[in-house]
Amino acid sequence: MSVDPCVESYPPEVRAHSALHVVKGAVVRVLGEGARWTASTYVSGRHARLTVKFDRKPSPDEVRAIEELANRKAAEGLIFETVTMPREEAERIYGDEIYDLFPVPSHVRELTIVIVRDVDGGVWNINACSKQHVHSSRCIGRIRIGKVRFRRSKQLLEIPFDVEP
Ligand SMILES: [Zn+2]
Repeated sequence: MSVDPCVESYPPEVRAHSALHVVKGAVVRVLGEGARWTASTYVSGRHARLTVKFDRKPSPDEVRAIEELANRKAAEGLIFETVTMPREEAERIYGDEIYDLFPVPSHVRELTIVIVRDVDGGVWNINACSKQHVHSSRCIGRIRIGKVRFRRSKQLLEIPFDVEP
């Protein structure tokens, strides 16, 4: 698969962080709404880790399906849209889908909402996030998921991945 030249125009951290949004959309579609809550994220260079609340370890087939779907969507060139609005308005329009497991502090009155727009006009992923993103998921590059880990006692599923090149 050829790599889009725009991959070169973003720092690895921005691509890896942006990939978190794309991978999360794939996780929810493959594993279902039970995996909808992000517990934490981590990025270092080309490496990232998405941790979601979940109740079991996914099968190797499911992990492969997540990786394939995330790469397919990345290659489709989903657009990252950003809107900033008062918190009440964002909650009224988008509901709790914009939030992660741990709440945004109550003193935060304005939210930046990142919408990864699907090719059919729907929403692939939506999240309150103030970090920097690629403009198109084509600029992420290839996503390679590593060895997933399920922490049974905490009901947390860790999905590590790298973006390439
Ligand atoms: Zn983000």
